[in-house]
Parts: sequence; structure tokens; C-alpha cells
Amino acid sequence: MTHPCLSCGACCASFRVDFSVHECDSNGGRVPSGLAEEVNGFTCRMRGTDYARPRCAALTGTIGQQAACGIYEWRPSPCREFAAGSEACNKARLRHGMQALEAGLY
Ligand code: SF4
Ligand code: SF4
Repeated sequence: MTHPCLSCGACCASFRVDFSVHECDSNGGRVPSGLAEEVNGFTCRMRGTDYARPRCAALTGTIGQQAACGIYEWRPSPCREFAAGSEACNKARLRHGMQALEAGLY
């Protein structure tokens, strides 16, 4: 069975993605700063995630068909901590017309 995230991407087009400025490569971190914007002296945000219809600037592909993070190795901590099958995951999936996943399987 292929991992459900590979044909999803819904979370990358549902939520605001904020993280510490120290995660940006301009501050010694790894997230490419060209794909993020500084919100204030403490917080950066992935570009595109605060739109009325959010879509992270790093997301490639088509949601619900084939999707991938263009900066997977360098993605910020909220993306690393986001769990497939969690309540938030399923909220995003339902929002994009996909079925919920069973918790604890992925
Ligand atoms: S919404 Fe859930 S299944 Fe879809 S990409 Fe995000 S974590 Fe994976
Ligand atoms: S950085 Fe990657 S994993 Fe995080 S929201 Fe953007 S596309 Fe999704």
C-alpha cells in the first residue's frame, strides 16, 4: 500500500504554517527563506498558507491526486510533526473532498 500522503497534500493547502525565525536558512536554519515570510521578529510563515484558500508555496502536484513537498528535507517543524490520520489531517482531507484516514495506522 502506498502512503496516503503521496496522493493527498491536503494539509499543505489548509492551515497557516508558522514556525520560529531560527528555522529559516537566513537565520542558520534549513527552511529556504525564499519560500517563507517573516511575520515578526520571532515567527516565519510558509508563503501561501495564510491565503483565504491556502496553498503552501512549496507544495508541488495536484491535491488529491499526486502531491509532494518541494522542500521535504528542509521543511519546518510543524510539517515534521503533522501526523497522517490525526484529527487535523482528517479535517484537511474532508475539506478537500477525501475520506478520513483511520488513526494510528501511518
Ligand atoms: S492531510 Fe494527512 S494524508 Fe494528507 S498529506 Fe497531510 S498528513 Fe498526509
Ligand atoms: S513546507 Fe512542505 S510539508 Fe510544509 S506545508 Fe509546505 S509543502 Fe507542506
